[in-house]
Amino acid sequence: LSERLSGVFDRLTKQGSLSEEDVKTALREVRVALLEADVSLPVARDFVKTVQDKATGQAVTKSVTPGQQVVKIVHDALVDVLKGEAEPGALKVDNPPAPILMVGLQGGGKTTTTAKLAKRLKERDGKKVLMASLDVNRPAAMEQLAILGTQIGVDTLPIVKGENPVAIAKRAKTQAGLGGYDVYMLDTAGRLSIDEELMAQVEAVRDVANPRETLLVVDGLTGQDAVNTAQNFDDRIGITGVVLTRMDGDGRGGAALSMRAVTGKPIRFVGLGEKMDALETFEPERIAGRILGMGDIVALVEKAQETIEAEQAEKMMKRMAKGQFNMNDLRMQLEQMIKMGGMQGMMGMMPGMGKMAKQVESAGLDDSILKQQIALIQSMTKKERANPALLQASRKKRIAAGAGLEVSDLNRLMKMHRQMSDMMKKMGKMGKGGMLKQAMK
Ligand code: GDP
Ligand code: MG
Repeated sequence: LSERLSGVFDRLTKQGSLSEEDVKTALREVRVALLEADVSLPVARDFVKTVQDKATGQAVTKSVTPGQQVVKIVHDALVDVLKGEAEPGALKVDNPPAPILMVGLQGGGKTTTTAKLAKRLKERDGKKVLMASLDVNRPAAMEQLAILGTQIGVDTLPIVKGENPVAIAKRAKTQAGLGGYDVYMLDTAGRLSIDEELMAQVEAVRDVANPRETLLVVDGLTGQDAVNTAQNFDDRIGITGVVLTRMDGDGRGGAALSMRAVTGKPIRFVGLGEKMDALETFEPERIAGRILGMGDIVALVEKAQETIEAEQAEKMMKRMAKGQFNMNDLRMQLEQMIKMGGMQGMMGMMPGMGKMAKQVESAGLDDSILKQQIALIQSMTKKERANPALLQASRKKRIAAGAGLEVSDLNRLMKMHRQMSDMMKKMGKMGKGGMLKQAMK
């Protein structure tokens, strides 16, 4: 597959930016690749469409082919879809005892994952955990959890024969409260397929436990079935996240993409084996790399992009050392600032800028203001950017209007430019041993 993709990408013509045709050709193959990786058809189609809109017209990084550029764009878009809003590994387990409900089909890996998570909570977060098996269907299931509990040194709720799942859940809750547990985990029974009895049972347990987290455990190798399962459980029970098991196998993990796209629920962990420590926090970059299978190219493009940024920064430093600092330089600075965590962060790092960083801080400037300033610079003509001295009243009005802002905003930007420019000149005069020149090394 990777070979076929590379083939197509190589055929794309070398040019400055990606044409619609280039992107279309490449994405036709990407779509096939996604389907082969077990991504469902509608999801693959939507995904390709999004990337198409995003990629067309994008610049191709120097020393990279358009094909390689498309790979990077596809990869980044995959990561975007896979990424949830919150830290995937951070479970809500405050307000003890916090219930965690584990749901899923039979054989998906619920019991194993329950124990793996309990071990993680105990060892990483120092939580006192109680596990309870609610699987009254398979006699051996309760024993299985008890054995795992002994193995990892986590308590399990004593087994009472003949009790129903709701009663067990209630007993677990009471026991967790009395025993001073931080977390109690409910490992429910599964079926071979979704059925009404299973859902009704899980629903009843959910209602007595009122779980902080409801994690769906699914076999990552089951592709489209896993997605249907997730959809069903989410509709009926409401899940807060997904654990994908058997990701140690050679499946390509396309289910992760579909599941995320269809349910919108975050993937929290992946199971990577039968052992108790074979559980990892979900990393979108890793799964994206696996689905696409072109990690080398992605790394290559990233490297090229970094190199170019470094080259640009060096050029600017040289100009600044000569006392030249125009609006293009300022714009680059502003963009860097956004990247590096705002103005204070950036200025704090620049030689001689510590004081100004404090001023900026006290002025309460933040990213939205940085973006406004960039918009103002974009609204200037090429000549104006290169020579800010041209900026007189009528031009100012035009520029401010073009950015949808006030002339006073532009005045602020110009004041900032003047201050920075003065500072550059002073530093430039410090000669060969000057701070800027040292900073460039
Ligand atoms: P449950 O029916 O959902 O409770 O599933 P179990 O936890 O009993 O797991 C079923 C089988 O899958 C067991 O043999 C586990 O050891 C195995 N298993 C669970 N998670 C993983 C995983 O991430 N990788 C591999 N290779 N096997 C797993
Ligand atoms: Mg089980």
